[in-house]
Amino acid sequence: MPKVREHVRGVSYGWPMTFEQPLPKSLSPSRLSDFQACPRRYQHASVERIAQPASYASAKGRFVHFVFEKLYLLPAPDRTIERARDYVAPAIDEILTDDVRKDLAMDDAMLQRMLGETEEIITRYFQMEDPRTVNSEGVELRLGVTVGATPLFGILDRLDRDADGNLVIVDYKTGGLPNRNYDSQTFANAELYAVLCQEKLGETPTKIRLLYVAQGEALERDVTDVVIRARASAASGAWERIKRYYDDGDFPATPSSNACRFCSYKDLCRADGVPVPMR
Ligand code: SF4
Repeated sequence: MPKVREHVRGVSYGWPMTFEQPLPKSLSPSRLSDFQACPRRYQHASVERIAQPASYASAKGRFVHFVFEKLYLLPAPDRTIERARDYVAPAIDEILTDDVRKDLAMDDAMLQRMLGETEEIITRYFQMEDPRTVNSEGVELRLGVTVGATPLFGILDRLDRDADGNLVIVDYKTGGLPNRNYDSQTFANAELYAVLCQEKLGETPTKIRLLYVAQGEALERDVTDVVIRARASAASGAWERIKRYYDDGDFPATPSSNACRFCSYKDLCRADGVPVPMR
């Protein structure tokens, strides 16, 4: 039966409520990350679908992904740096929409900054690998599967076939290099993509490559059966909790400096009485 939101914001913290929106049909790696960081964030983003304003970092990420996606749709011999640069102008139209520009309060200086950083990223990327020699099996690959009772969905940036004939998951990262003490977290999303590949394609990728294109560095990790089982199990456990919280009408908030720092829902949470850290 459809749920109806019946609480009043500001007095709802800790109180069960009901939702007028249906539960999402599937769980993606990024939504799983949201949930693991803070179930309330998942509630706002995925159940209530409260729009999150674009940030400079997210817009630049989408901008650069657009350029690389278009580049890899070309036949391998055509994937030159000049052709990559040709996709910058279309990316301006496609990604920097009026809504995005408004969210960013984008002026000409900000646009020039983004274009300059994109040019640096393109240059660094071509120093990392020659896309004309990459055997790509697909880009922006949409994979949906049900593992056990858990519906999963994800979009892979790129799936390659290496020289030994093995599948390799490639994910572009436009942010800074992560702390290597947290590799398990760094590779978590991509490892769930490996679960998707195994279930959907019947073949398990053997390696993950995270391309930190702003720094020109690649982080690599082998995929093992143990990791695949652990990621599938974590996703299933999270999905069970999501269904339970949805039925209970309450996704608990778990505020912390790390979780809240870049969260778009701080004002909403504070209004609901959640003790969101000030920094
Ligand atoms: S601001 Fe903090 S507590 Fe609120 S949803 Fe975001 S991460 Fe959770």
